[in-house]
Amino acid sequence: MKDVNMEVMIGNYSIARGLVEAGLELAAAYPGTPSSEIIPGIIEFNKREHGHIHAEWSTNERCALEVAFGAASIGRKAACMMKQVGLNVAFPSFLGARRKKIKGGLVIICCDDPGPQSSQTEQDTRLIATLLNIPVLDPSSAKEAGDVAYYAMEYSYEHKVPVIVRSTHRVSHARENITLYQIGTRKVALNEGIGEAGVKGSRGQGVKGKRENGGHPNHSITQSLNHSSASSYPLSAKFGIVASGMSFSIAMDVIFELNLTQRIPIYKVIKVNPVDPDIYDFVDNAGRVLVLEETDSVLEAMIHRGNKVFGRRNGYVPGAGELTYDIIRGIIEQIVEEMGMEERTFFPDYSIEEALKEIRFPPRPPRLCAGCPHRASFFAMRYASPEAIFPGDIGCYTLGISMGAVDTCIDMGGGVNLASGFYNACNQDETFTPIIASIGDSTFFHAGLEPLYDATKTGKRFILVIMDNSTTAMTGMQPTPQTGMTADGVKTHSIKIEDMVRGFGIDFLKIIDPYSIPLMVETIREAHAYLVLDNHSAHKPAVIIARRECLLSAKGKHEALLDTINIEQDCIGCKSCIKLFDCPALIFNDEKRKVTVDEGLCTRCGMCLLVCAMKRPRKGQNK
Ligand code: SF4
Ligand code: SF4
Repeated sequence: MKDVNMEVMIGNYSIARGLVEAGLELAAAYPGTPSSEIIPGIIEFNKREHGHIHAEWSTNERCALEVAFGAASIGRKAACMMKQVGLNVAFPSFLGARRKKIKGGLVIICCDDPGPQSSQTEQDTRLIATLLNIPVLDPSSAKEAGDVAYYAMEYSYEHKVPVIVRSTHRVSHARENITLYQIGTRKVALNEGIGEAGVKGSRGQGVKGKRENGGHPNHSITQSLNHSSASSYPLSAKFGIVASGMSFSIAMDVIFELNLTQRIPIYKVIKVNPVDPDIYDFVDNAGRVLVLEETDSVLEAMIHRGNKVFGRRNGYVPGAGELTYDIIRGIIEQIVEEMGMEERTFFPDYSIEEALKEIRFPPRPPRLCAGCPHRASFFAMRYASPEAIFPGDIGCYTLGISMGAVDTCIDMGGGVNLASGFYNACNQDETFTPIIASIGDSTFFHAGLEPLYDATKTGKRFILVIMDNSTTAMTGMQPTPQTGMTADGVKTHSIKIEDMVRGFGIDFLKIIDPYSIPLMVETIREAHAYLVLDNHSAHKPAVIIARRECLLSAKGKHEALLDTINIEQDCIGCKSCIKLFDCPALIFNDEKRKVTVDEGLCTRCGMCLLVCAMKRPRKGQNK
């Protein structure tokens, strides 16, 4: 392969390519936005290169990290991938792995979600890595992410320490033209520091007085990561910027547009830990330094110099959330105005933004898809026991919150443990409050097994609805342990949820098609009666598996249940179906004062006809 081969790809594929080119031998991951595409990328590049990389979906992030660590500890080049909250699941092994010797290479790719856009919370992996003194690299573009992944594996293999690559969703999902190299031939020079024109760094272009250690506790890591030999630093500016990750790329655009490239030097940081000691010279030479980074104040804390260095900590930069183009532009414009530095030649065209303000878009809250089987389960749960507590969990079924059937959402598997806690709390005064917890099939395997075992062992009485749509739907249809398929599509063992539940000794176990709403309602009531009457010492939870394949993965496999949906006929406009069933295909027509169906969205599942008191399935409609 010539090194001129180029391909447009997303940042996660760029990371996959970088790892494959660096000689990766084993990869393990649990899917989680924004990291999910890295394993498919590794599988694809491995096939193209006719390689022998083993790539697998793990049951959770702890498994992924430990599998990768095991391979690295006996000499392989291994990597694991996860999203930032996944690192919490892997944290015990993460803590252990940093102190153990590895013979090979271990790269942990952790993709953060500033905002957050698809997570329950935002976290900064750089902060955890820095606290634990693990090298962490923060690429600022899709292309750089590939170089950084390659560099991280080379570095880890050479120095026998785990290295973290922290991406963010903008880096992971941006598309760029990426150069493909033959395995082992990529040459990477991390382009950080500050360049001649005061903008963006190429290493070694003039930084004076390198410090020995930068105060970093791990001298050996610091010295070996800081391989440049800069000698002088000519710039002194009233105002400079230190930036990392996507914030750097956006700050570059803004500075260019404001025609301030010669006046505002930007120091680019890729190695967040250990930070290159040159950065302290940059700070010392500038009048004031703005720090732009996502999402915590990691660099800001590191280079802190009283009021001279500012950012999130003093409120100049929002204390949380993504640093979008608009936010960074606003901050820089405000500062240059305060400092009398304004000299812009580029005037952004605000007319489109202004015009958009005039347009009123109807609010579109996050909702389950039209025809989603989870909607039927949630409706049945609420209908059967409206007064219940509904502990929920992480996955697309968290959207049951809009139907009043999810009250809590803390972390994967957390809903089952919360149900246990609620049970004990509510029963201390001898009342019996119904509790109906829900969890998805992939999440059940990931983190629901121990909580259910624990609840059974300690005699908790609640209903657990395991919503089994036979895939990991939220992150892109990855197989679950029940699917019986490996990450690269090879048939393997299937582990049945019901076998696990029975194995725990749970007697009340029903498997229901959630589209059978009346049966679901009846079964939930039956489970409730079982729990109330189960008044002996061996209390146990009652489990209902609501099983129907996700509509998206089943597309084309199943026909619609009904030919047409005539919801309008007999409709009295009570809006119950909209409020309680929340199907995006149901639309209230203000003129007709009736509910109509958006034919483009409707899957003709017929659920709304069961929900509406005015309708019943008509003879001959069922196929
Ligand atoms: S529940 Fe039935 S009657 Fe009420 S608005 Fe919906 S379709 Fe019309
Ligand atoms: S049949 Fe009813 S519930 Fe099913 S998708 Fe269409 S509108 Fe929604």
